[in-house]
Amino acid sequence: MLCLSSRLAILKNPQYCFYSTAASNIIPLDILIVGGGPAGLTMLSSLIANNKLNKLSFKLIESNNLDNQIEKYDSLGRYDNRIISITPKNLDYLTTKINLPLNFDKITKFNGITIFNGSDLSTQTKSRVDLDTESYMCEIQNLVKSNYKFINNLNKSDSLIQNVKVDSIVKSELDNYPLVTLSNGITYKPKLLIGCDGFNSSVKKFMNYNGIGWSYDSFGVVGNLHLKYPPSDPSNLRGWQTFLKTGPLAHLPLEGDRATMVWSCDAAMSEAFAKKITNGEVLGSLINCAYVLSRLDYEYYLKKALKLFSSESVDEKAITALIDEMNIRVEQESENLSKINTDNSQDEMLYMDEHYPPLVKSVNLSTVGRFPLKMFHLDHYSKNRLVLIGDACHNTHPLAGQGLNMGLEDIKELVKQLEKANDLGIDIGNNELVLKKYFENRYPENSVMLMGTDFLHKLFAIDEPIVHKITNIGMDFFNNLDSVKKWMAFKVSGKN
Ligand SMILES: Cc1cc2nc3c(=O)[nH]c(=O)nc-3n(C[C@H](O)[C@H](O)[C@H](O)COP(=O)(O)OP(=O)(O)OC[C@H]3O[C@@H](n4cnc5c(N)ncnc54)[C@H](O)[C@@H]3O)c2cc1C
Repeated sequence: MLCLSSRLAILKNPQYCFYSTAASNIIPLDILIVGGGPAGLTMLSSLIANNKLNKLSFKLIESNNLDNQIEKYDSLGRYDNRIISITPKNLDYLTTKINLPLNFDKITKFNGITIFNGSDLSTQTKSRVDLDTESYMCEIQNLVKSNYKFINNLNKSDSLIQNVKVDSIVKSELDNYPLVTLSNGITYKPKLLIGCDGFNSSVKKFMNYNGIGWSYDSFGVVGNLHLKYPPSDPSNLRGWQTFLKTGPLAHLPLEGDRATMVWSCDAAMSEAFAKKITNGEVLGSLINCAYVLSRLDYEYYLKKALKLFSSESVDEKAITALIDEMNIRVEQESENLSKINTDNSQDEMLYMDEHYPPLVKSVNLSTVGRFPLKMFHLDHYSKNRLVLIGDACHNTHPLAGQGLNMGLEDIKELVKQLEKANDLGIDIGNNELVLKKYFENRYPENSVMLMGTDFLHKLFAIDEPIVHKITNIGMDFFNNLDSVKKWMAFKVSGKN
């Protein structure tokens, strides 16, 4: 029986008529997850793996065709281009708490990262910070596939609905539950709706909260690298990052003579890298120049390369000459740096190996892609019966490699709060008693990460000699603070 106010609302607002009168078209559920990216799928697997929460009824909807996506990934025969770093504590959660069948043949452990101040004018005074933070390079598709396998292996494939989008979300007039109508015509009425649908989240729009954010007016260009030779000690790999005028360039290890890059560039440069440069050796040699040469030398070769590929007809001879010239300059500067910084010939031979990234032979152009970079943080992650995780509520610059790691931390906290509510017999969609606790425990930590990353990006983007000097002094000072570095490494990776 409908109360008077509901009946009046139905008369005034016909969109509620369907939901109130045709109740048989509405499927009730405990949990509906929107978005089957890495965060959404891991959320679903976490529910399935949890002995208490897996008694609930839940479904995940994803607009892409995951079967096709995984088939395409399997047929690649090489690394996919979306490769991210995952912290040891998050990898541990995925493997021991959920038991995901990740393909470890394609996961590369590295033991630390070295950061250079690439804005310095001289190669010899370029400051560096060596952080011993263990991390793991893993393709996003490896994570997606292992979740998919896990869900199917446990006969939970009916909880995964692919190729279907959210058409609308409205509030039920009767009891304020969300009514989620999909592109296949089905409407779900969940006790709890979890939005894992990324930056353009439909759940976020429905929640209608404010947030802070800005675009970096730049793109992250990703691509897989073929090295000239594999690193000399495969059990002690490092990641590398240099802050250039256009943003940071990261060079991260994969198995053997493979590596991957994330190069932050402005729109024009990223378009040239992704669409105009038709020779992978040019890009590879430019990466070597960015790390080994002085800033002015690197910028000279960058300008020259962009000019060569901006003309209608590409001059092949000029390209070969440019690659040779860059390689010779890098070789000369490497010899110079080794001589200056060592006092015997044996150390001299090892110097570049130990202090600089392995030289790149070429970038595999078929793997080059670009992603717009932004910072965004929503003021609240939850409302009654609604909650957000991952990129749906926060986005960050990839320079700290923390985007999905924050999403995985969100999942752990939300699962903890849902489990507590379940134990105490509290409604899992209650904001005050359950969902807000998740938000209150995650928001401060995510804020620190987002603001810290934004600060670093802005600091290194200031192209003023005095600021370069100050950052150099700061980096040298920081590099000598072993205990602070250890604490920071522990905070990020969860490992001493
Ligand atoms: C260049 C670059 C490098 C990065 N490096 C790192 C790194 O080293 N470490 C790290 O931790 N993070 C990194 N990140 C961040 C990381 O990639 C993201 O944080 C992560 O992919 C977000 O996952 P998500 O599942 O929250 O969102 P998404 O990946 O955006 O997934 C959202 C899903 O929802 C689906 N969807 C959207 N709308 C609907 C709808 N209406 N109905 C149904 N489905 C819908 C989409 O199809 C998609 O599958 C990097 C990002 C970039 C751009």
